[in-house]
Amino acid sequence: MSGPLLPGATIGVLGGGQLGRMLTLAARRMGYRVHVFSPDTDSPAGRVANREWGAPYDDLEAAREFARSVDVVTLEFENIPSETVEELSSLVPVRPGPRALRTTQNRLREKEFLRGAGFPVAAFRGVPDRASLDAAIEEVGVPAVLKTAGFGYDGKGQTGISTAEDADAAWETLGDEAVLEAWVDFELELSVVAARGLDGSFAHYGAVRNTHDRHILDLTVAPSGVPPGVEDEAVRITAGIFEELDVVGTACVEFFVTGRGELLVNEVAPRPHNSGHWTIEGAATSQFEQQLRAVCGLPLGGTHRAEPAAMANLLGDLWTNGEPDWPAALAVPGASLHLYGKKEPRPGRKMGHVTARAPTPEEAALRILKARGALIGTQGPAAGS
Ligand code: AMP
Repeated sequence: MSGPLLPGATIGVLGGGQLGRMLTLAARRMGYRVHVFSPDTDSPAGRVANREWGAPYDDLEAAREFARSVDVVTLEFENIPSETVEELSSLVPVRPGPRALRTTQNRLREKEFLRGAGFPVAAFRGVPDRASLDAAIEEVGVPAVLKTAGFGYDGKGQTGISTAEDADAAWETLGDEAVLEAWVDFELELSVVAARGLDGSFAHYGAVRNTHDRHILDLTVAPSGVPPGVEDEAVRITAGIFEELDVVGTACVEFFVTGRGELLVNEVAPRPHNSGHWTIEGAATSQFEQQLRAVCGLPLGGTHRAEPAAMANLLGDLWTNGEPDWPAALAVPGASLHLYGKKEPRPGRKMGHVTARAPTPEEAALRILKARGALIGTQGPAAGS
């Protein structure tokens, strides 16, 4: 490529979900055109794009046509078949690029990469078949978690193992190539969302603190409140991983923090992340604009956070008793609402999120829980976690 892709260029996005939607909105605001490629039609991202290509990810003919219609391809969903990525890459730049994608598409490959490159991870062992599971339990110890090696996110495809006797049942549940990981008795969970430009520049949003419910992200608070030494180390590890994987774009590293302040990398997502949604209102440049800037070869934007912020996910469960009370939530000072335009509010499905800023992280968290609680007519904090 001879220079940066300027406004007017067409960005191709693989995946039609909310991450693609927020990227598309950021790109269109800056004068770019966006084509979304996903197996669905009328998808959250496709609906706000200039063009939606509805085809399965393994439809190479459609992928070729899509590639010819755009200037660069990026993604909001990493589990794209490698043949498709190769085909696209032969026609147009694909960012974050093959190394980041290939490594993060498979949990075992990702963990082996992290351990091999000297990044801290919990003890683990690959489990290609049932026969290997007993030896893995022996080596890793219990309690442990058995996770599918491929295509897992939000706690999908994982099951706990408390004693060696659980092996049969655990293998029955997953029944596929897996990774056995030691259970981490963590004190808290952090993530670092950051971006790496085409020129290798790096910009991060600091460490944020995440809490999960049923393995799905529930709440993010920025800043995390961990000692500066722990935060600096998390950022240093993140920058190192981005460098090794040659990331171009926005990506995220999730960490466990143990009671002794030790960091362990849990997962790497090669795209914007749910724990970075607060940056839309809370940072000088959102994680989505940052992705756009990076993949277009533009300078990265500032990541300054004027004040603390918190984000709470809105899952389909909130619709159980009918339409949530939007005016009540919006009456909470500083609350911003994002809905992704998904038609069916299924339990556990991410339908939207709310963000609030406040003078302290604690106040931001309280506001966000109050806003979410108001949606279903409860007082907030007690109902939120
Ligand atoms: P994952 O899909 O692997 O990111 O897991 C989702 C969530 O499950 C994590 O954010 C943790 O809250 C929990 N979890 C996953 N692996 C472990 C582990 N080895 N030890 C303790 N909790 C875990």
